[in-house]
Amino acid sequence: MSIVVMKFGGSSVANPERIRRVARRVGEAQDEGHQVVVIVSAMGDTTDDLIMLSRELSARPSRREMDMLLSTGEQQSIALLAIALHEYGYKAISLTGLQAGYNTDGTYAVSRICNIDSSRVRKELDEGNIVVVAGFQGLSPNGDITTLGRGGSDTSAVAMAIELQADMCEIYTDVDGVYTADPRLVKSALKLNTISYDEMLEMAAMGAGVLHPRSVELAKQYGMTLHVRTSFDHRLGTIVQEVTDMNGELEKEMVVAGVAHDMSVLRATLFNVPDQPGLASTVFGRLAQDKVNVDMIIQGSKTSDDKQNLSFISARTDADKIEQALGEMVAGGLGEKFELDDSIAKVSVVGAGMISRPGVAAKTFEVISSLGINIDMISTSEIKISCIVPEADAAKAVRALHEAFLG
Ligand code: ADP
Ligand code: ASP
Ligand code: MG
Repeated sequence: MSIVVMKFGGSSVANPERIRRVARRVGEAQDEGHQVVVIVSAMGDTTDDLIMLSRELSARPSRREMDMLLSTGEQQSIALLAIALHEYGYKAISLTGLQAGYNTDGTYAVSRICNIDSSRVRKELDEGNIVVVAGFQGLSPNGDITTLGRGGSDTSAVAMAIELQADMCEIYTDVDGVYTADPRLVKSALKLNTISYDEMLEMAAMGAGVLHPRSVELAKQYGMTLHVRTSFDHRLGTIVQEVTDMNGELEKEMVVAGVAHDMSVLRATLFNVPDQPGLASTVFGRLAQDKVNVDMIIQGSKTSDDKQNLSFISARTDADKIEQALGEMVAGGLGEKFELDDSIAKVSVVGAGMISRPGVAAKTFEVISSLGINIDMISTSEIKISCIVPEADAAKAVRALHEAFLG
């Protein structure tokens, strides 16, 4: 009997009616003869609401307690979905991340999954249960609950699909697939039938929130096919896999797969740091130790007294860790002062086809500058070009880039 792993995001389980709809959908999969494992997120905006609640008590709540708090969101939805399934006459059992055997590396707020001991899940499946598992959470080596980072339930689902050797991991969400840009922002965005792991990974890492980047990384590593589709009807969505369907065209003209944007970034700048060997390794070594991801780095030109400015881009959610680290560096004489600026955003053009096509970068800059928007930082890889622009201009830039490359 084949195993299917189905993941439902927050909007799909936002209220009792939607939970009932998910229950019917999941039940159908069992009726078709599959063993079914369901991974669910917290209902609607529950995670955001819990964060706001904690902020009423503290500006900097402990990361351990935040994980304890946020993990309760998923615990509500698994129990409610199991209750709904019982009402429809299905055998179902809910399991927390811990009960489902997720072992993490123990880093609060951004844990990685080390392994899954799936013995309990397999036992429950063998007893005929639909197994409903809390996404986003796992157990640390010292016995604490840790979470996987915002949007992490996708990664919980892919990891479980790999562990159970499922044929496919289905990600049910509030859009009917992966689009060439966020359909909320770009009305003319097109749905993709297929997308390669590499392109999806860049899109996700550059802010296309439809999939958690680490879920795509994991799927690629283990060759797990993903199907991103809507939970509202039975339409087919987007298949994420190694080779995309080129419709028989060997070198298809699809240079750009999509345009992504990320409004959740900040730019940190350390001013007047001495231009000495080992500087970058000291700064970024410390940030890495604190598990702060750094995306783009610019070392400014030297000033007359051999000092320079150092800027980098990170997630706004890491602001407190960056403030702490840079504050200590300045106090220790490394740099004169520092500044965090969260009025910026990142816009990116992604496509495997651009490796061999010169001119994509030039066209990107031309489109942005023709809008009178100043590009603050640029980074490129073989399959993407990213620009930092003022947040207020980001939506305009995304629409213009989409029109220029995919319109
Ligand atoms: P879930 O709660 O199901 O995990 P998310 O809100 O995390 O849902 O992800 C779905 C959202 O991702 C969509 O509503 C859409 O606005 C956004 N999104 C951003 N970029 C894209 C894209 N390229 N294709 C599809 N959706 C995208
Ligand atoms: N509930 C968590 C979040 O809102 C995890 C997820 O939805 O994937 O980030
Ligand atoms: Mg999500």
